[in-house]
Amino acid sequence: MIKAFQAGYDYIYPQNPLTGQRYLNLLPDFSDTIRSISCASQETQIMADGGVWDHLGYRQIFERIMNDLIPHTKHPHFCWKVTLVDGGKSIEGSTLPGGQILFYRGLVQLMGEIQSYAVSEEDRFAALVAHEMAHSSAYHGYRTATFLVYSTLLQISCAACMLSTFGISTPTFISIGFLYSLHLLFGYSLDRHQEFEADKYGIQIMHNAGYNPFGMLWIMIVFDILSKDKNEYTTWIKSWLATHPSPKERIRAIKHSLMELKKSESSS
Ligand SMILES: [Zn+2]
Repeated sequence: MIKAFQAGYDYIYPQNPLTGQRYLNLLPDFSDTIRSISCASQETQIMADGGVWDHLGYRQIFERIMNDLIPHTKHPHFCWKVTLVDGGKSIEGSTLPGGQILFYRGLVQLMGEIQSYAVSEEDRFAALVAHEMAHSSAYHGYRTATFLVYSTLLQISCAACMLSTFGISTPTFISIGFLYSLHLLFGYSLDRHQEFEADKYGIQIMHNAGYNPFGMLWIMIVFDILSKDKNEYTTWIKSWLATHPSPKERIRAIKHSLMELKKSESSS
């Protein structure tokens, strides 16, 4: 009886193998379907963004880094793959559920061409890859989908309830608008939380694979230098309506993660 209860609890509230944190498993596992849809849409996206950027040198570096990092993701069975996209100057990277990672040419060239004695080129690229791998391994796509499904169902139920009680009226519109605003704010907050999580667990993946985790901080310092918004106050206001935390916030969090890593190393 206790075993059956524990099994049910572990199914509904399982522990993520990478983060060790529990999360609500309230959607059926459509991972394979989502993965095939994602891969198909990814192909379309790549073509729309200029096609695959077949740079032999960078491709070999990323393949080497992937081989080093995959065993430390806790999900070696995912279809891990890095594709370089010839997206002009776009400074972006993204990941799809199941391990498909895209890096745009602008981002790769930016991180590859800046001269730095602080961290090697491989450590910088490993930081980019580890961050995206942490997104996939922490099931961020699944957790976002769960939030969207249940939040939308809640909004539809509340809207139906208000319409049946007050009809098409000002209180109904205000309530629907209020709920939708909450939905957006919670959604943005979830996205930002996932960025911090991807930095934190990306650092651990890098470290465990033998790369210098300082690479994650270096990348964020570069983004901070490139950031146009230098005003802390406006950055703070904008951060509430952004899917990504500001580079300054991420630098603070990354420094904290690096210190935690150093402490755990010296105590072990
Ligand atoms: Zn990210």
